[in-house]
Amino acid sequence: MIEFTKDTHLHTNWSADADADATFEAYVKRAKELGLSELTFTEHHDIDAVHPLFHDPIDFDAYVEAFERARTASPIPLRLGVEVGYQSHVVKELNDFLGRYPFEHVILSIHYLERKDLYTGEYYEGKTKDEAYRIYYETCLEAIRTIDNFDSFSHLDYITRYSPFGPYDYDVHKDIIDDILRLLIDKNKALELNTSGYKYEGRLYPDEPVIRRYLELGGTKFTLGSDAHRPSELAGAYDQVQALFQRIHG
Ligand SMILES: [Zn+2]
Ligand SMILES: [Zn+2]
Repeated sequence: MIEFTKDTHLHTNWSADADADATFEAYVKRAKELGLSELTFTEHHDIDAVHPLFHDPIDFDAYVEAFERARTASPIPLRLGVEVGYQSHVVKELNDFLGRYPFEHVILSIHYLERKDLYTGEYYEGKTKDEAYRIYYETCLEAIRTIDNFDSFSHLDYITRYSPFGPYDYDVHKDIIDDILRLLIDKNKALELNTSGYKYEGRLYPDEPVIRRYLELGGTKFTLGSDAHRPSELAGAYDQVQALFQRIHG
């Protein structure tokens, strides 16, 4: 079941890459206008972040306090979430961090590979397209296998967002994508439908063949999120997700 009245992936002005105007209150105001029933705020926590913007981690003690004030004042339910970035050398710290706060929704993401930022394009240098993408999927699988304390795996196939190689060939990576989907199902974790892909690449993350396959394998758990960094992006492109699932269920 997909909950179209909720947004489970949101960044506020606490994040270095969000709009200054992206306050909890501004999101709540916009959510009321849109008739949404619940918001989950999922600030970034990338330990040993490669991107300079994220070198200084957010003070989560202060963040949680501010969130709780906003929650008390909000006319709609708010949930305390987090988006954690997996890198193989930070697993212990990551688990410690997740144990320290009462998160109600943990999103697991891959933003860096080989300690390189996908955003700058450096990661892709010297690799073939299939190799660059295969390493990404292998790392997704490793992250899902290694980390237990999460609820949803975020923006699967984000690897193409800043890639010079363009769209991936589903058939080339089908086997490892199957492994990822099966593991999510086995671990009872959700597959995130991340609508920020429509903004960047005119498609959902993950792409339609992956969603079809997940359903075929018996996957039922989805979370839906816009990955908004400003209130105007809240619940973005939900109508396109609705259309996609109508198409799938034909
Ligand atoms: Zn992310
Ligand atoms: Zn995000």
